[in-house]
Amino acid sequence: MVSRVIPVETFDLVIFGGTGDLARRKILPGLYRRFCSGQMPSDARIIGAARSDFGTSEFRDLVRDAIHEFSEKNDCDECNIEEFLAQLDYVTIDAKGEGGWSELKAMMRNDVVKAFYFSVAPSLFGAIAERLHMNGISDADSRIVVEKPFGRDLVTAKALNGDLAAHFDETQIYRIDHYLGKETVQNLMAVRFGNILFEPLWNAQYIDHIQITVAETVGVGGRGEYYDRAGAMRDMVQNHLMQLLCLIAMEPPSKYDPDAVRDEKLKVIRALEPIAPHHIVRGQYDATETEQSYRDDAGDPKSRTESYIALRCQIANWRWANTPIYIRTGKKLKARASEIAVVFKETPHSIFGEEAGTHANVLRIRLQPNEGMTLQVTIKEPGPGGMRLVDVPLDMSFADALGDEDDVPDAYERLIMDVIRGNQTLFMRGDEVEAAWAWTDPLINGWTARNDVPKLYDVGSAGPDDAALMLKRENRAWREIKE
Ligand code: NAP
Repeated sequence: MVSRVIPVETFDLVIFGGTGDLARRKILPGLYRRFCSGQMPSDARIIGAARSDFGTSEFRDLVRDAIHEFSEKNDCDECNIEEFLAQLDYVTIDAKGEGGWSELKAMMRNDVVKAFYFSVAPSLFGAIAERLHMNGISDADSRIVVEKPFGRDLVTAKALNGDLAAHFDETQIYRIDHYLGKETVQNLMAVRFGNILFEPLWNAQYIDHIQITVAETVGVGGRGEYYDRAGAMRDMVQNHLMQLLCLIAMEPPSKYDPDAVRDEKLKVIRALEPIAPHHIVRGQYDATETEQSYRDDAGDPKSRTESYIALRCQIANWRWANTPIYIRTGKKLKARASEIAVVFKETPHSIFGEEAGTHANVLRIRLQPNEGMTLQVTIKEPGPGGMRLVDVPLDMSFADALGDEDDVPDAYERLIMDVIRGNQTLFMRGDEVEAAWAWTDPLINGWTARNDVPKLYDVGSAGPDDAALMLKRENRAWREIKE
């Protein structure tokens, strides 16, 4: 089945930081893919903006190189690249200066969707928002897109929200969390709320626990210094993992509408209980003969920042009473694998006797690689010799079920098109971000005050032993991290 592409309205999209890493790796190749799929109108325009003194042709050269380097799927020919590049312009602007804004204003059209992507450091968000407004470049229908990190705690997140709110209404602000743009994440909502099968079982009565894992094989590499000021909690949990947790745990919204969905997610965050220290495991990868330790990568031999974290979360409401949600994420682990596993309870009574062993259904939602879902069910092991039971997966790989995976837009492509369509469902609302910080701040402050030292773990392992022990104490085990 080939995905149906509905062209969006024509637009002027300004990418502040259009020459930067994110623009070159994700935003511009993503737009090119949407162009190739026929979704981008031929009169839509993309304007790169940064301090570098480029002309339009130099910017187009940069984008051509970026597409060649970072577009994973080479399904377009050179001719299309040139047609796409012809829709690009560039303006030299210093976000904190006064030059370039009138040129930008002159380039913008009045009767089209206007979107401004802030692919720059968050310290520039306020300055850009102010200048767009003061120079009359944006209007009440314009959209702004902002990147993570959205603050480093509640105070800074509130300040950022305030800077944007001074010039833009909340309905104009699109806070990107690219995890929300993944096909499987949206499918999670389709599976939960589009089928009668799962929702009746989706509660503490039938679910034993849930595990959310985002495992990476890469270390912090060249971003060591930046990462060391953040750590896994700020870099991954406060945004991506909490968004996944919200979608898996929220009540059914009354409709698939931005505020209805985000209201329900917010209720989940607000119902999260504080976490006791013995339900938090932080780790740092250790050195091997061939690889540096986290502290070497961070350039701080005394760093106490975590490159791994595991948490036992509990949502205080009827649906999830006494049903923990374990989350973990880390760098330099044994495989690159992100998944949500919903582990159901065993049947209340086994008619097959003790020798049949224990079995539980598991709904596994894979985010990467190979997005898809698997439902583990128990069946009879084939052949003679009595009633032996075995757990087998009912597998639904999206590529198999829905055709060529290349037709499925990646997260950035989908989210940018949602901005143009004016659909905020998959973007974080300001109060959600603040509620997430309000929950994470005391945890971070707690381990800082206790002077906790992260546990070391081996590169290529599943993380620190303490994380395994945390589940073992509750007669549970983490699922294997594998691709
Ligand atoms: P980057 O590679 O350092 O690029 C920064 C961009 O901003 C450059 O185009 C730079 O161009 C421009 N810039 C810097 N100061 C400016 C100023 N005063 N006025 C106008 N333009 C200015 O950073 P990045 O990695 O692309 O990250 C951009 C944003 O996305 C950051 O908020 C980052 O946290 C976020 N993000 C990045 C990634 C990623 O994979 N890279 C992932 C998630 C989120 P000039 O020097 O020419 O001005």
